[in-house]
Amino acid sequence: MTESENTAEIRRSVQALCADFPGAYWREKDSARAYPGEFVDALTKAGFLAALIPEAYGGSGLTLSDAAIIMEEIQASGCNGASAHAQMYIMNTLLKYGSEEQKQEYLPRIATGELRLQAFGVSEPTSGTDTLSLRTVAVRDGDEYVINGQKLWTSRAEYSDLMMLLARTTPREEVASKTEGLSIFLVDMRKVVGNGMTIKPIRTMMNHSTTEVFFDDMRIPASALVGEEGKGFRYILSGMNAERILIAAECIGDAKWFIKKASDYASERNVFGRAIGQNQGVQFPIARCYAQMCAAELMVHHAAQVFDAGGNPGAEANMAKLLASEASWAAADMCVQTHGGFGFAEEYDVERKFREARLYTVAPISTNLILSYLAEHVLGLPRSY
Ligand SMILES: Cc1cc2nc3c(=O)[nH]c(=O)nc-3n(C[C@H](O)[C@H](O)[C@H](O)COP(=O)(O)OP(=O)(O)OC[C@H]3O[C@@H](n4cnc5c(N)ncnc54)[C@H](O)[C@@H]3O)c2cc1C
Repeated sequence: MTESENTAEIRRSVQALCADFPGAYWREKDSARAYPGEFVDALTKAGFLAALIPEAYGGSGLTLSDAAIIMEEIQASGCNGASAHAQMYIMNTLLKYGSEEQKQEYLPRIATGELRLQAFGVSEPTSGTDTLSLRTVAVRDGDEYVINGQKLWTSRAEYSDLMMLLARTTPREEVASKTEGLSIFLVDMRKVVGNGMTIKPIRTMMNHSTTEVFFDDMRIPASALVGEEGKGFRYILSGMNAERILIAAECIGDAKWFIKKASDYASERNVFGRAIGQNQGVQFPIARCYAQMCAAELMVHHAAQVFDAGGNPGAEANMAKLLASEASWAAADMCVQTHGGFGFAEEYDVERKFREARLYTVAPISTNLILSYLAEHVLGLPRSY
């Protein structure tokens, strides 16, 4: 595929930045389960995390297609964009539905790195997939909202200044459609941590800085409401398309990393007096993963183009995420197999990337739910839930 000089330049710049964060850096962070703050600071300083912020607010005003290239290159370089990717996709909700005052107040300071918008509070203990049954409530009290409830898997909450929070403002039984009555808030966490908001880290199989967050009579100003009260679910769906496309791009980057790592190793490793890559039993799985990745990559680019053209990429974003997450997971498994026992040794980085890549067929939306969306909304099959 031929790319524009602009895209090629984005790739080169991200690669140059990532070169300063080699495998040893990520291994150390992984083993300590520490946040890669230096890496996130470097991305911020270089302006990559402000890619989607319009120039008028101090960002670079790039397209989602450009942002997808940035995320892909981070992963293809062996780094882990999960430490910062939310700022890219949460931004979309603020840009599209935030008031002019909210944009003026936050966007320029996010662009400079003074503020981090890294926390996205949607999932709860009893509602991951079934978002509409979430239980966190926000009740209006004068010029404030009082929030009670709990979020689960709110990643990077400890390293964020702002949280995009989804809560119910009208009880489910009082709304005509269950998609109504949810609202989005842009919460200034600096004012509420320890004062209504409690964050508890959750240790996972990979270094992901995820947490659970408790709200106990947490008071926030009414001005934190994004858009209209009760319309939050519609707003978040539009943001989720951006999220799925960017995460799909990360999966493409991961798949490229695994394929290159496996190809290099298969060319160098000698068993029975010849390179293992000379055996078709080793070559073919690598070639198959390459074909699978290329097909998924086309869908990711197509979904991003539909998004950038102002269309509704619901089906394309879901298919991009489905195909790319499966391509990266297939490549991860292939890469371990190609490395034999060394695939399990930390110093090769394969096992770390393998653990990191596993997430994306589950989050931010699981494969089953994507298939269900395609079956019901695209193919017109009967609803299953
Ligand atoms: C490391 C990590 C980071 C995360 N970060 C965030 C974050 O920052 N913010 C946030 O809001 N959330 C986050 N999540 C949550 C993530 O989006 C959810 O885990 C995901 O949406 C799945 O929800 P669940 O875990 O509740 O699974 P469940 O809803 O309990 O589903 C469990 C399984 O059942 C399947 N299933 C459920 N219902 C059906 C059905 N009707 N038909 C077929 N299959 C079905 C699902 O596909 C899944 O495989 C994160 C999760 C993880 C693990």
